[in-house]
Amino acid sequence: METSVSLERALALASNLNFPRRTETTPLSELNGRILATPLSSKVDDPAFDNSAMDGWAVRTEDCDEDTILQIVGTSRAGGEELPHVSTGQACRIMTGAPMPPGADAIVMVEDSVDEGRQVRILGPARPGYIRKQGENLQKGQETLPAGTLIGPAEISLIATMGHHEVETVCKPTIAVVSTGDELVQPGIELSPGQIYESNSYGIASLVEKMGASAKRFDVVHDNIEGLRLTLEEAADSCDVILTSGGVSMGKWDLVRRLMEEEGEPLFWKVLIRPGGPPLCGSWKDTPLFGLPGNPVSSHVVFISLVAPWLAGCMGADHELGPRLADRVRVRLSEDIKGAPKKLCMRRIRIEAGEDGLVATTHTHQGSGNIHSMVAHNGLTLLPPDTSGKEGETIDALWLR
Ligand code: AMP
Ligand code: MG
Repeated sequence: METSVSLERALALASNLNFPRRTETTPLSELNGRILATPLSSKVDDPAFDNSAMDGWAVRTEDCDEDTILQIVGTSRAGGEELPHVSTGQACRIMTGAPMPPGADAIVMVEDSVDEGRQVRILGPARPGYIRKQGENLQKGQETLPAGTLIGPAEISLIATMGHHEVETVCKPTIAVVSTGDELVQPGIELSPGQIYESNSYGIASLVEKMGASAKRFDVVHDNIEGLRLTLEEAADSCDVILTSGGVSMGKWDLVRRLMEEEGEPLFWKVLIRPGGPPLCGSWKDTPLFGLPGNPVSSHVVFISLVAPWLAGCMGADHELGPRLADRVRVRLSEDIKGAPKKLCMRRIRIEAGEDGLVATTHTHQGSGNIHSMVAHNGLTLLPPDTSGKEGETIDALWLR
């Protein structure tokens, strides 16, 4: 087992762990938040036919000098059938999205006309640009979505536009979320002295869902090795990945670490990051396991910086278009921010758009027990080891989604 590794080394070591990736056919109505398993091409041209971008008149440009009168030969409406031919001196009434009638090559907006019953008076310009050309958005056979794309509302509309009623997606892996600690009680119950509310499993499960996986929360495991072993066995049997929280530090009751060392296959323990120093990673009965620190901010930060990128890789996520929890950006510091000796320092920052680029400020106490700091801020500094940030300096940061 390696100890005290850099975040890059931790990611490289974790990439040795994996779970089988399966795919399934998923209907359009269930695609939100899913990951596309195969590249997708359009089955049709979009638009499928030349059509009007405006309500108005389909005309021949050559007929339309100022103040012309044209004879009305019919109507083209969206979803309508027969189209009249537009000959010299004629116009066809046309609705937005309706097909261009043969013979016409431009549109006059309804606002630029006076409908006189059998004829129309043209008062404004005839514009070929108001015709949406067949295939100008997408051509039949054109690939628009690579495998590994996270499917959201716009992707779903595009998939439907391309003519697919179902697509192949990556099956959601099931991720066990296990909190450990004698002091933890469920929110809603009165606290006794020494107790605190269990919060990590709820937050971590939500991060799991945000990555496009399924979370299975387990009851809190108390600090005894038999109970922990039983829960980990059940989790390994029923889940693809195990995430624990708590019990990975140096304390006598840090049983996740002890059990993994004695009966599991730990890969590394401790990562040179702040917050979130003591994570443990390895496998338990052939199931990848990440032991997240118990401190709430640490558990979120370790999930965001280590577990999420690993999980994305295992799910076959596209680097650009797949699920992720943060974007790397450059921010200008509006105050001095202290770094950490030997560790990559991820202080919570509020990132806002300034006049010339993104600006970062801090608002709350930065302790790793203060989960409010993850709500009051929307980013994390990426201050390299032994480096502090100075007011006015531009640094790398993660902008949380
Ligand atoms: P541990 O890593 O188990 O020593 O826990 C470190 C700190 O995080 C302690 O103050 C714990 O009370 C707290 N903690 C551990 N697990 C949780 C949890 N699931 N929810 C909220 N706080 C926790
Ligand atoms: Mg504990």
